Amino acid sequence: LEAKEEFTHRTLAMDVMRPRRNDPPLTSLTQEGMKVEDVETIINETTYSGFPVVVSKESQRLVGFVLRRDLIISIENGRKRQDGIVSTSTIYFTEHAPVQPPNSPAALKLRSVLDLSPFTVTDHTPMEIVVDIFRKLGLRQCLVTHNGRLLGIITKKDILKHIAQMANQDPDSIMFN
Ligand code: ADP
Repeated sequence: LEAKEEFTHRTLAMDVMRPRRNDPPLTSLTQEGMKVEDVETIINETTYSGFPVVVSKESQRLVGFVLRRDLIISIENGRKRQDGIVSTSTIYFTEHAPVQPPNSPAALKLRSVLDLSPFTVTDHTPMEIVVDIFRKLGLRQCLVTHNGRLLGIITKKDILKHIAQMANQDPDSIMFN
């Protein structure tokens, strides 16, 4: 049991989260300043189920999490039903529309589809605890931060892969049965 304890504590959230070391950074959105076409490009060039939203690229402070399907639907609806929403319209997740240069096209507010309290753990959280939280709260994904800065993401599938790997390395482990 002692050895097992040691074993299960060895893997930390930072070892399971994406991106992995040397991978390109997480695909995230900023809470203001991105254009409709920028977000559409991200939607078209990635297959991720969702995107963290940060205050700014520089700060990497987490604001929330937005699901890919909600983004697609809201942008489609905006383009169809809202006057002046075009490719160069600014998207914002903030309470109030950001100040824009005169004669800019109408801005698109997407705050209503933003999950403002996505679950987060720090990079040093033991995976044993992360797995437990996923199970107990039925999470689909969890964000990883370090000193308040967004660092990575762990999805339910990442968790399942991690559990399978653990079981392979340590078939007797009762921890994950
Ligand atoms: P799933 O894990 O169910 O396939 P996704 O398609 O959202 O769900 O994620 C695929 C992989 O990419 C996972 O390993 C996940 O950790 C990672 N990932 C998820 N969202 C992002 C993102 N916005 N930026 C970078 N990597 C991500």
